[in-house]
Amino acid sequence: MQINDRQSGESTFEIEIKGRVQGVGFRPFIYRLAKSNHVKGCVENRNDGVVLKINRKASAINSFISLIKSSAPSVANIESIVFRQTVNENFTDFQIVKSKTVSDRITGISPDIAVCNDCLKDMKVQRNRLDYPFINCTNCGPRFTIIKDLPYDRDKTTMKDFELCPDCLKEYRDIKDRRFHAQPVACSLCGPEYSLLYQNKVIKHTQTIISKLVALIKDKNIIAVKGLGGFFLACDALSEETVVRLRKLKNREGKPFAVMFSDIDTLKEYAFVNNTEETSLKSWKRPIVLLRQKKSLASSVSVGFNTIGAMLPYMPLHYLLFEKLNIPAIVLTSGNISDEPIVTDNKTAVEKLGKIADDVLIYNRDIYNRTDDSVVTIMNNKERVLRRSRGYVPEAKTLTLNVEGIFATGAELVNCFCLGKDNQAILSQHIGDLKNIETYEFYLETIEQFNKLFRFNPRLVVSDLHPDYLSTQYAVESKKRHIQVQHHHAHIASCMAEHNLDEQVIGVAFDGTGYGDDNNSWGSEFFVCDLKEYTRINHFEYLSMPGGDNVIEEPWRMALSYLYKIYGSKFLNFNLPFLNTIKSSSVELICDAIDKKINCPLTSSSGRLFDAVAALINLSPFSKFHAEAPMRLEAIINRKIKKAYPYTIDTTISFEDTFTTIINDLKQQVPRSEISAKFHNTIISVILEVVTEARNRYDLNKVVLSGGTFQNKYLLENLEIMFEKHDFELFSHQKIPTNDGGIALGQLVLAAKNQTK
Ligand code: ZN
Ligand code: FE
Repeated sequence: MQINDRQSGESTFEIEIKGRVQGVGFRPFIYRLAKSNHVKGCVENRNDGVVLKINRKASAINSFISLIKSSAPSVANIESIVFRQTVNENFTDFQIVKSKTVSDRITGISPDIAVCNDCLKDMKVQRNRLDYPFINCTNCGPRFTIIKDLPYDRDKTTMKDFELCPDCLKEYRDIKDRRFHAQPVACSLCGPEYSLLYQNKVIKHTQTIISKLVALIKDKNIIAVKGLGGFFLACDALSEETVVRLRKLKNREGKPFAVMFSDIDTLKEYAFVNNTEETSLKSWKRPIVLLRQKKSLASSVSVGFNTIGAMLPYMPLHYLLFEKLNIPAIVLTSGNISDEPIVTDNKTAVEKLGKIADDVLIYNRDIYNRTDDSVVTIMNNKERVLRRSRGYVPEAKTLTLNVEGIFATGAELVNCFCLGKDNQAILSQHIGDLKNIETYEFYLETIEQFNKLFRFNPRLVVSDLHPDYLSTQYAVESKKRHIQVQHHHAHIASCMAEHNLDEQVIGVAFDGTGYGDDNNSWGSEFFVCDLKEYTRINHFEYLSMPGGDNVIEEPWRMALSYLYKIYGSKFLNFNLPFLNTIKSSSVELICDAIDKKINCPLTSSSGRLFDAVAALINLSPFSKFHAEAPMRLEAIINRKIKKAYPYTIDTTISFEDTFTTIINDLKQQVPRSEISAKFHNTIISVILEVVTEARNRYDLNKVVLSGGTFQNKYLLENLEIMFEKHDFELFSHQKIPTNDGGIALGQLVLAAKNQTK
């Protein structure tokens, strides 16, 4: 009798789908698709993807697969669909079968998804979810931040402690419902809840909390708010007094604060937004987008920069708050003290953030995987991820190489690590500066969590060449087979991996610092390289870095280093304004140190050159945060100026003529905005000239740009335009950070190619 269930001519096919297909309502989607097309069979989550078995005529299998591809949920990301005919089975219906742990391979775990419009509507009509701030469905809600293990089922998440009420259970089990198999499904009866800790009182009930929050924000309070992947500090973005107080308490002097606007129209009053920027702002990933400022918020938000790091609401609570708030925007900055990782648990939030915040808003579901807000910028109409975290992680990058069992420990200052599974590279969320002890603990803890989540056990560990990086020391201590790769080679390899390049290219790696194979500090490297080796074909002339890493906080030291090299002590008679900000004894000391080579390592860093110019024109002789001087230099560019300064390209690149001409300009009172433009144009010109020469000499046309210096929008946009004009094939970063946050991916592919050495 069962034979009749398989119609004549039909066979059983197994279809394996890989990519981001878990936690995004994929199985219910398949179920509904199968039902509406009268397809019988089953679907199952595996920890390496989703597997379907269906009965179909061989001639009709392709059309069904096309249908899957074309109508999949928007958050899903299908990377591959493979099918094969298998042993014939009889199915009476279509079913979702229970998840099995079948192997230690992996599939794409969904990143966290901003609350969807359907849920926002439900929040106003569903009896058990009126204003319920943890509303979610298969299309939205927390994912990575709550997942402890695979396969993705409720009891493997931090929702485990919340038993579904009969109403929620009904929806969870109802295939026709939008909450069918939505693992974090919850309502006001059975789900998590917020508590506002206010003056030794605990305030409950959403609307009471919202009313109180509104009053507190208007009353200039700073509030620690538990978000999706950690705590944030919130306050009125138009109250200068409050923002200044937050800055002091958070021990963050100069770095701009991120701001959440009530809605896109309000945001557009304060910032210029083009179509690509709007797409990023509204995407389900809801990153912070760097925008050009139109109208000023409290001036201490952006501290003199003409940009705003803006985002839109992404949690139900944000929407509920803005319904009542009547304030266009709130500062929403990571809940941490200076460089520590953001706080995730309620107890630490009260202990640590309680010292900064006047009030603390917590909820009773744990955050398992810590994520910060992601940061992107749009350059030449493409989204460029600068800080990769919430909404982006842990999406894997599929490579053309097998990287199985390789662990890349990343860099140091902007650390992310990366692990290899088959041909998948899984880059961790933004970890931060490992020199900070709490951040290093976060690093270790996240490695453990990723190892467990992705069933990973490294056989080969790859690190930077820098002996002092904590990530290098981690590799040494791992007692695994360990190889080291050069920092800038890893930068280029990272961009090559992003674009699936595996050939010889011209690489341009510009950044603040990286350990060179001659033990000097590099950072303006022109390579001819592939994924195995590199030849350094040119770089900026070496200069003394007086005081070593101290130059990072004191760019004036680099200006001095250039001046002293060019003019000797004569520059002291030039009457340069920046020198008035420095004690003359310090100036003498530095010149003496350069003469005697005391604590004066050599550098070819482009970042240090930007530092020197920013200090020389007295824009930023001191730096309060990482890369402040180059950022300020970029911010003042007069875009109408097309001229550049002279320079010399030989076996190295010298900026002596650039400096002497800038000093002339300073004497002539040329505006700093013009000097900055000419300086940036000089760098563009240098890069183009060196690369053009290399193209002719090595017969290569592909150019790969990587390194933190290319976060500079003026520089990157103009370079892309110039290279296109000159018929180069140019590759720059988009999904992978161009800063050290992308290094681990490069390390991974270099290790894969060099492991047999
Ligand atoms: Zn419920
Ligand atoms: Fe770097």
